[in-house]
Amino acid sequence: MSNGLQERQCGKMAVCGRFAPTPSGRMHLGNLLCAMLSWLSVRAKGGRYLLRIEDLDAVRCPRSLADQIEEDLKWFGVDWDDGGSAGGEAWYQSTRSVIYERYFHRLERSGMVYPCFCSRAELHAAQAPHRSDGTYVYPGTCRGLTAEQAVEKRKKRPPAMRLHVPDRTISFIDGCQGVYTENLAHDCGDFIIRRSDGVYGYQLAVVVDDAEMGVTEVVRGRDLLQSTPRQLYLYEQLGLAAPQFYHIPLLTAPDCRRLSKRDGDLDLDALRARFGRPEPMIGMLAAAVGLRPTAQPVALTDLVQEFSWDKVSRTDAVLPRNIVQGSSISYR
Ligand code: GLU
Repeated sequence: MSNGLQERQCGKMAVCGRFAPTPSGRMHLGNLLCAMLSWLSVRAKGGRYLLRIEDLDAVRCPRSLADQIEEDLKWFGVDWDDGGSAGGEAWYQSTRSVIYERYFHRLERSGMVYPCFCSRAELHAAQAPHRSDGTYVYPGTCRGLTAEQAVEKRKKRPPAMRLHVPDRTISFIDGCQGVYTENLAHDCGDFIIRRSDGVYGYQLAVVVDDAEMGVTEVVRGRDLLQSTPRQLYLYEQLGLAAPQFYHIPLLTAPDCRRLSKRDGDLDLDALRARFGRPEPMIGMLAAAVGLRPTAQPVALTDLVQEFSWDKVSRTDAVLPRNIVQGSSISYR
């Protein structure tokens, strides 16, 4: 995206937020909460709101699911100033690899990018999960390969490309979670910026896109908090300005079990059929995260004036029993 286009979208100083769904299924309540809070945060400041479709994995993310997300958002009362299908192809990550490539080469020139031939199975066999989310810290197996060894290995399998991270602590203030600190080498490890099938990694794509689109605030689930130090490192290495981050509470059932996409009965298909209109769902979500004392039905626009990040709880939001019990999932 050219700078001219960026300026048209957000301008350099204006507040600009976005919703960046991955259309691999119908949205669920957690996605809706993210759309709701990101939209409220921007609208409360009179900023611009963008819709970017994160369909890097084009096979898992058909256009029909992206179109369904737009339809669900409109039904819910979320509108956007640019992006989505009306914005054109540039708003779909699957069409943006030429842009990611440019930034990838910039990193490559720094000498910190190297090919990695480890398969997922090899990595799983080699170590126990290290991070709290059950993922692995890459031990650096391929970092020391000589050019000759890499040439030999390339004959057998195409490599993923990893960014070598320093033994450095990154700290930032999250607008919702407070201070978050991580050591890149110990807590995260060298990470993939291009997969072996040539698809650019989420970490690189999201940084490039947010920067190119002029995004000044990123609101997303707390499950992505651990990605942010990597992204801040990328911003720094690429000489780009980082946005303000807000990592919002996750939704849980009354027994504290985290809800996820697997809970199909809490997806928008089932919820729309059950509630018929968005106001009761908005009221329920607003109460669950602390924006309102009770779950009275309310329109999204009626929450704009009273929105403040100070009101949003840091801890996971427990859904009322009747919501969860009304679905066919049993929580005893
Ligand atoms: N596409 C990601 C998701 O749907 C969100 C990424 C982000 O907001 O940075 O979970």
